[in-house]
Amino acid sequence: MVSRTTDDYETLSKMGCAAMSEPAFWAGFDRGSVDGFRDYFRQLTEVEPKRAAAYGIQHFTWLCINAKEAENVELSREVMAMIPEFLDASNVLGIGEIGLNKNTKNEAIVFQEHVELALRYEQLILIHTPHLEDKFQGTNMILDMLDENQVEPDRVLVDHVEEHTVREVLERGFWAGMTLYPISKCTPPRAVDMIELYGPEKLCVNSAGDWGPSKPTAVPDLILEMRRRGHGENLIRQVVYENPKSFFSQSKNFSLIEPSARAQPF
Ligand SMILES: [Zn+2]
Repeated sequence: MVSRTTDDYETLSKMGCAAMSEPAFWAGFDRGSVDGFRDYFRQLTEVEPKRAAAYGIQHFTWLCINAKEAENVELSREVMAMIPEFLDASNVLGIGEIGLNKNTKNEAIVFQEHVELALRYEQLILIHTPHLEDKFQGTNMILDMLDENQVEPDRVLVDHVEEHTVREVLERGFWAGMTLYPISKCTPPRAVDMIELYGPEKLCVNSAGDWGPSKPTAVPDLILEMRRRGHGENLIRQVVYENPKSFFSQSKNFSLIEPSARAQPF
């Protein structure tokens, strides 16, 4: 949301969005210093919650240095050493989105050190899996590293799953997220296909909302597609509301004000 307009908050609120979780991610350019990240984390923990609250939306976030910037191991270590300054902020759910981009050795080093950080501070973990040709191999590398570190699968959500990775993620006990994109990754119809194939257990869906082509309102698009195919409201509610709520509730910082109990801005 740091790269979205206030209009997006207003639109999402009108569509029934109760809460959102924003991962720390790549800004579209490599940041040059640890202070650049410190300012970014202040934006995620101080500024965005206020922007969201103005439209009746609760804002939660995750902290890390992303895989695209992890080639710079020295800077990554400075950022990881600074993260604990922010872990007590009231909207922080955990460490993420960490993962791999091109499946390099340096990315794997920084990934493992993030996992150690999450375990040391009892944080949930949000995982970014690589794109396109690197996704299958990268996802397996990530799941193996999590197993080696004896991370409880229930405390990890593996994001951007697609048809060739979703089964493995779910079978190994992790939560899986399908990211809806207008031009790449997963579309709403493909996501509904996967819900039909694998069932709704531990399966979540999220919209891309960044500085590139993306559509924050893609979750309502998925809801529409599910209704179009005749799926019941209970199944829809489980995927878009109850599942993320169950996963996030493992964080001490997550307390959701049920929509019926909150003041409606409109
Ligand atoms: Zn990602």
